[in-house]
Amino acid sequence: AKREGKSRAKRFDPVLADDMADRYDLEQGLRDAIKGDQFRLVFQPIIDARTGACTAFEALLRWNHPVRGAVSPATFIPVAEQSGQIERIGRWVLEEACRAATGWPDPSIAVTVNISVSHVLVGSLLDDVEHALAVSGLPPSRLKIEITETMFLHDADRSAPLFDRLRQMGVGILLDDFGTGFSSLSFLGNLPIDVIKIDQSFVRDAGRNGYATIEAILSIARALGLQVTAEGVETPEQNRNLVERGVGSVQGYLFSRPIPAAGVTDWLRMTGR
Ligand code: C2E
Ligand code: CA
Ligand code: CA
Ligand code: CA
Repeated sequence: AKREGKSRAKRFDPVLADDMADRYDLEQGLRDAIKGDQFRLVFQPIIDARTGACTAFEALLRWNHPVRGAVSPATFIPVAEQSGQIERIGRWVLEEACRAATGWPDPSIAVTVNISVSHVLVGSLLDDVEHALAVSGLPPSRLKIEITETMFLHDADRSAPLFDRLRQMGVGILLDDFGTGFSSLSFLGNLPIDVIKIDQSFVRDAGRNGYATIEAILSIARALGLQVTAEGVETPEQNRNLVERGVGSVQGYLFSRPIPAAGVTDWLRMTGR
């Protein structure tokens, strides 16, 4: 009886009720966001650690809510996932990102697109990628998909062939936020991926606690023939430490914050990258 009392009290928690109203509001708002022209992509450069050249831009979604203003993707992406809207939004992001990339002055620069696990699980990703490439005219080799480790914990049997197929087409697969899931390093060897992106929490921690973890990740990646990108690089010191240890690409505020689509060409020209 005591436990029941507790759970009932929780159900009527005004904070929780607020939370639910909030989610409902965001969920409804998301339904009109594409139609209402409220989404934009911003692009953050990914830099070759050896040459300093820009090799790709990561597309990051921004939502300008008509009443609330800017809502963080960390807030609205989970709502989109849980309300069955991520597939539609993911399609929009794919198409918009591919179109943007076709306008960049250097045709060797790729675009990376974040794709949610739930989008992969509904099964349309292959079609959605093919559609985005077809309507934009972007060569498949210029597109990379960013997915998280949890992908392969959900339904590896179904997702692995899908990623194999994308790779056969020439689309790269990048494992995002590496190290934050609970997969072992040896698990990496069996994944259909090309690049791992070391999570920014490791980059931050390394400054305090040393680079042993990052060195371990690099040595495994080297053995498996995987490229390594480090994200969240904010200081020259972090960058130097990462590059010295053989990280292939770097990304973070040190180089640039995410920039609006219209600013990409100027940024490339201004920085000479
Ligand atoms: P993520 O994919 O791990 O993206 C990296 C986040 O770190 C981005 O936040 C980026 O703006 C931020 N960041 C980049 N450099 C630095 C740095 O040097 N220091 C710090 N502190 N942060 C840095 P953002 O744009 O707010 O995105 C948050 C998350 O939302 C993303 O994490 C990704 O999981 C998700 N997301 C964003 N756009 C999309 C999208 O189009 N589709 C999906 N499914 N998820 C998206
Ligand atoms: Ca990402
Ligand atoms: Ca990440
Ligand atoms: Ca993240």
